[in-house]
Amino acid sequence: MPDLWLPGAYIDKGVNAGYKNGRCQMIRPVEHATVGSDSRGVGRRGYMNFLVHREASRENGCTQYAEIDSVTWHSFEPHRLFGPGVEYERLTTGGMNAEGLSNFEDLTENQIEWGKRIHAFCHEWGVPLDLYNGPRYEVDGWFGWVNHKDIDPSRSDGLTRAEWNLMVPSGPTSEGDGGLMWNVFYGNLDGTVTFIHGIGAVVAFRLVGRPVGMFGLPMGELDYIGFNVNGMNTRLVTPEVGNKLEKASAKLLA
Ligand SMILES: [Zn+2]
Repeated sequence: MPDLWLPGAYIDKGVNAGYKNGRCQMIRPVEHATVGSDSRGVGRRGYMNFLVHREASRENGCTQYAEIDSVTWHSFEPHRLFGPGVEYERLTTGGMNAEGLSNFEDLTENQIEWGKRIHAFCHEWGVPLDLYNGPRYEVDGWFGWVNHKDIDPSRSDGLTRAEWNLMVPSGPTSEGDGGLMWNVFYGNLDGTVTFIHGIGAVVAFRLVGRPVGMFGLPMGELDYIGFNVNGMNTRLVTPEVGNKLEKASAKLLA
């Protein structure tokens, strides 16, 4: 597995470090703007994984508050499970732009540089270098980056396409370039699901005790196991197959 902490970033473990609220799925990181000038206290309280400061002189220019795949509070309930949150420290300057985002102060050189590193780091984890560009709130099934405004009706923050392109100079990767991602779900009769996820393998983590419906999986009278590839096309497999996948994964992770 890739590193949990971004090389060179200042580490300040917040309340969600150590997987206090579980692991996210690493399929849909979210771009944010702080609308502030010093959001370090918010970071320590567990709201984001990465805070990119305006200047390199503050905490190396970027602070990480929790493991890259740790759940943090950066967006509302279902979505924080999907990927890490990245906050760029910037204020609004008034009005909205054509992409439906609030206008913000320009990103600094430091922010563009750390943005590049964060996107490359998430790509190591299998996240495609693509920014969502569809209707708001219809991101289910999207595997890649997304702006906060596209998942939360009360927010209008994120990166413009031009800003995003500064951080991904090579341009978007083709669909599926993030490598094979397997998700395995175990549904239980008590209405809980064990979620198992891995990148290029089968299992990287499990999340126990979440309602089955959260993942849009069918509720049935019998236990079931589902798996999907690249966060889409969920299929059900038998518990026997799932058990084999789990054993194979445990070996890979050992
Ligand atoms: Zn936000």
